[in-house]
Amino acid sequence: MALHVYDHVTRSRRKFEPIHPGKVGMYVCGMTVQDKPHVGHMFAFVACDMVRRYLMHLGYDVTYIQNFTDIDDKIIVKAREEGVSAEEVARRNMDLYHEYAAALNILPADQYPLVTGHIPEIIAFIETLVAKGNAYAAAGDVYFRVRSYDEYGFLSGRHVDDMRSGTRIEVGEKKDDPLDFALWKSSPDDEPGWESPWGRGRPGWHIECSAMSTNILGNHFDFHGGGRDLLFPHHENECAQSSCGTGEKYVNFWLHNGLLFLGDKKMSKSDGNFFAMGDVLEKFSAEIIRFFLLNAHFRSQIDYGDERLREAEAAYGRLRRGMARLAALRTDQVDPVPEGLISEAGETLGKAVRELERRFFAAMDDDFNSGGALGSLFTVVKEVNQYATAAGAKIRDRAVLEETWTFLATAVDILGLHPKGIEGLVAADTPAVPDEVIAMAAARDIARAEKNWAEADRLRDEIKECGFLVEDGSDGFRVRPLGGTD
Ligand SMILES: [Zn+2]
Repeated sequence: MALHVYDHVTRSRRKFEPIHPGKVGMYVCGMTVQDKPHVGHMFAFVACDMVRRYLMHLGYDVTYIQNFTDIDDKIIVKAREEGVSAEEVARRNMDLYHEYAAALNILPADQYPLVTGHIPEIIAFIETLVAKGNAYAAAGDVYFRVRSYDEYGFLSGRHVDDMRSGTRIEVGEKKDDPLDFALWKSSPDDEPGWESPWGRGRPGWHIECSAMSTNILGNHFDFHGGGRDLLFPHHENECAQSSCGTGEKYVNFWLHNGLLFLGDKKMSKSDGNFFAMGDVLEKFSAEIIRFFLLNAHFRSQIDYGDERLREAEAAYGRLRRGMARLAALRTDQVDPVPEGLISEAGETLGKAVRELERRFFAAMDDDFNSGGALGSLFTVVKEVNQYATAAGAKIRDRAVLEETWTFLATAVDILGLHPKGIEGLVAADTPAVPDEVIAMAAARDIARAEKNWAEADRLRDEIKECGFLVEDGSDGFRVRPLGGTD
């Protein structure tokens, strides 16, 4: 199977073909930085990072662009409340974004364009739309004429006649039609603004993404990402502006991640269901949060809450311990099977891993279904545990164990489960525990499975001497510093 991606035009998955052979252009709508990032924001960036990593794995040279909306009404209001500049509010929240993105193992974008750094490109784009008759100036503002674009509504599946009833012209707006939206808004003297052919003002929200994405990636590019809540009106408006401005198709595939729900309520700041990333990171590690967010198909809605995160933490622990066990099996002192031969247990493991590898990639090829792909990894770990029990202390199928390890290492990198790859994941949620101690604990786990109690006790004492305690649970072992609590 080759990579298939959901297509908004046909409303079905279709085979991915890059616009330029071997290359992929990807634009992700970044944050409006009036406030700290919350988990809902970061979900979009984790999802798009997973997509990018898979495209890189498939051998594409990916150019990844993510903007920041660093000027807008909400930022200006916030700055006024705090008595600081809009720039300061934006800078502070962008710094926080970068900190959390690094913690969540999100690869840095190739560029982070800012609205304030692209005013000339934005003005030029609006001038083109005015010249083509898709936009009009009105007393210092400029509006996009929605009815000038026949295909308006194709992305969100709405029809202009249905939209009309729900919209009206607000006080102070100078548009001809309630459906029209602002490309440029005049600014009072005490607010940030730039000189333009229509007087001093600043860009409307939607136009920045059309101007910045096409300037950097070209008029027509492969992927555009963002939260489901951006589909309408933001992305619909981007499509209209871009298609009219350039005369070309804008984007081939849209990646809209689902929203986070708390119970049956969409999580949003105004509901008070607001989970600042900093607060969540005090309770759960960034690796667990990333793992949690990738546990379903990115387009589906996620049921969020501490309880769900605790479940993810337990599952992540199972995965980690299974991989630690495999690490120990690879390197222990048990005799290898002679070259060219395979044990019965080894044959069973090899067959299972090859099938699970196929399923992992089939899930990723199915519109980047990371949740399905993770499911295969859990089954691999189960197979490894069964192998350890079946092979016991007799013999090791080094080639099969190596094949299993290589597949898991690749999978960990594609999903970005740990910044240091599988080696880091094996040591993951016990960062204070040295690698030797983890290795001893994994060796002890094997000794226990082999009912070699003397060796298991000896290793436990040795681990204790290093200042750590090893505990056994139904799903494997865990190591913690002596005297510490989890
Ligand atoms: Zn955008």
